[in-house]
Amino acid sequence: MKIKLFILFSLLALVFVAASPFLFNQSVTITDPHKLDADDNFILYEWVEPRVGGGPEWDYNLKPVQVSDRVWCFFGALEMPTKENAGDMSNSCYIKGDDSWITWDTGPSAIFAKQAYAKMKEIADLPVKTVIVSHEHDDHWLGNSYYKEVHGAKIIGPESVNVNYHKGDQTRMIKTLYQDAIRGTELVPVDESFEETTEFEIHGVNMEYVKVGYAHSEEDWFLYLPDDKVVLVGDVVMNGRITSNRDGIVIGQLNALKAIKARDWNHLVPGHGFVTDKTAADEAVQYFTYIKDRVLEGIDDEVHPDDITKAVTLEEFRNKDLYYLLSPGNVFRAYEELEMYDGDEDEEEDEEEEKEEA
Ligand SMILES: [Zn+2]
Repeated sequence: MKIKLFILFSLLALVFVAASPFLFNQSVTITDPHKLDADDNFILYEWVEPRVGGGPEWDYNLKPVQVSDRVWCFFGALEMPTKENAGDMSNSCYIKGDDSWITWDTGPSAIFAKQAYAKMKEIADLPVKTVIVSHEHDDHWLGNSYYKEVHGAKIIGPESVNVNYHKGDQTRMIKTLYQDAIRGTELVPVDESFEETTEFEIHGVNMEYVKVGYAHSEEDWFLYLPDDKVVLVGDVVMNGRITSNRDGIVIGQLNALKAIKARDWNHLVPGHGFVTDKTAADEAVQYFTYIKDRVLEGIDDEVHPDDITKAVTLEEFRNKDLYYLLSPGNVFRAYEELEMYDGDEDEEEDEEEEKEEA
């Protein structure tokens, strides 16, 4: 017994000594300034040497798919970003205006954007004067630097890109890809952001840039083309794979999906996934509805947070890509969110209306 206690106290003492520089927060010497972020917080991941080597460019082997009269998209793999797919795992679109292409999400690297443009130039020899971005995740906008540098494009996008990313930062993509794919990619700021949903005509195309706010990320937007009956939605819709809700919220997602449903469209291009017909958003609606209902039920039944990913599964989605990797995380994240949730105001209003009618 005494020996056990002695070991226990020795261990505690060791832990205390090891943690003391953090506890007293005075004796930490910074040997590598890269390990601090702009606010002097420790960066928990490893700094990777910037890759600037030579060699031929990665060949993304891109093929544009025509979605409607004047919309073409490049569809990425249903995977996480890896060296093997060089980040080609999200969807990136081109809209044909009268004197310019307009791009919607520009893919994972400047080299990707350059190769995408070469393909589009064969369809119509127009420059890219306007770039529009759906959200801040780096698989959707690291191509911006190509359009800025080579075409002098104006970049429209969420303010969160400028708040959360700065020139020289190492994003997930920059750390993951080989230099033959990522070299020359810079984090360039967004030129214009809007506060609220805005309608505009750019290069002869009518558009509604719709703010859905905190949904898949801190700030999500989608682009509705009323004359084309096309909606480009970024990551508030995925199909064929499980979404990653690590930065998102279920309630925001469901509201975004409502806003998409409220518009009249024949084609929807998801942020990831290949289904673009009228059923394109169905999987996302189902996934988030199930997560919300089942996690709330788990909370009602007082399931311990440690057990929530065992209690709540999304059986219906087991054969979708990335299910095992991402779905448990989404459930856990939903638990954290919905624990604080006290009912949907809209639903309550609906119920009240129904009562009044009855
Ligand atoms: Zn994405």
